[in-house]
Amino acid sequence: MSDVRDTPLLSVRDLCVQFKVADKKRLPWSRARTLTAVDNVSFDVHPGETLSIVGESGCGKSTLARAVLNLVAVQSGTVHWMGREMPVGRHANRQQWQSLRADAQMIFQDPLASLDPRMTVGQLIAEPLKVHMPGLSRDETLRRTRAIMAKVSLRDDMINRYAHEFSGGQCQRIGIARALIVEPKLIVCDEPVSALDVSVQAQIVNLLKTLQAELGLAVIFIAHDLAVVRHISDRVLVMYLGRVMELANKRDLYDAPSHPYTRALLSAVPVPDPAVERAKVVQILSGDIPSPISPPSGCVFRTRCPQAEARCADARPALRPRRDSGSAACIHL
Ligand code: SF4
Repeated sequence: MSDVRDTPLLSVRDLCVQFKVADKKRLPWSRARTLTAVDNVSFDVHPGETLSIVGESGCGKSTLARAVLNLVAVQSGTVHWMGREMPVGRHANRQQWQSLRADAQMIFQDPLASLDPRMTVGQLIAEPLKVHMPGLSRDETLRRTRAIMAKVSLRDDMINRYAHEFSGGQCQRIGIARALIVEPKLIVCDEPVSALDVSVQAQIVNLLKTLQAELGLAVIFIAHDLAVVRHISDRVLVMYLGRVMELANKRDLYDAPSHPYTRALLSAVPVPDPAVERAKVVQILSGDIPSPISPPSGCVFRTRCPQAEARCADARPALRPRRDSGSAACIHL
């Protein structure tokens, strides 16, 4: 008998996102160049699981998160939601995507900037209900608003206050309440704790974990802090220059990273044991991330890879199965 977790909630195949960018050094009449932010990315998200997407700034992880919700234009690839193909790119159908919006909500990086300063906390949290459930009575809207505020530990007497009166952590609780009030199946968290103090980060991550378990939510968690990712994830997808370098179960990936890029990222994660931390060898990646406008040929990581060989420039390495779970894109696999 197949487990419900075997059926993906979201299935993404060969997704590509490109932007046209003007080159200031070129002449005014020369053609804009193409920046590939997401390059042939495929993954599934199952009900109730957390898939984290990690990588350095500019690797395309936030663009990917937005692309799967059709919030940026997609060039090619497919997105299936609960087995139903969602039209993307030129074929994107507003009505079809509108019906998905309640099921898939987003939590943003800067909680204060994502909240309208003219609205009270109660209005902010209830706003998605007005969009997705316009027939709901005032009393029911208020009841649901109060219930979700309690779930995210916002006091009832905060309902008539404004976002600027709250700390960053409390604003993120408002953002989480807004996302959850329509009872979504998936939430996409775009660096939800990176703008918060370290002590508050732990509170918000634990809150997300608790709510996820309680509500059976699937979560796409975008982050660059691999210690936080270890705490919250079921599986981890590592991106570099818009491409998937490695995708595996959290434990397998942290215990035995297969890709040189994943190994370098994990080597920089602090270890709580002082003896292990002292003995640890941090792999410093040399050089800067190449421009996504003109990425290196073959393996895009080769200009910084300590194991690169001449043949790494020839062809893009395919994702090959790892020993335990998942896959990685390296010729040495
Ligand atoms: S394919 Fe070559 S350059 Fe790319 S990660 Fe593997 S060894 Fe390094």
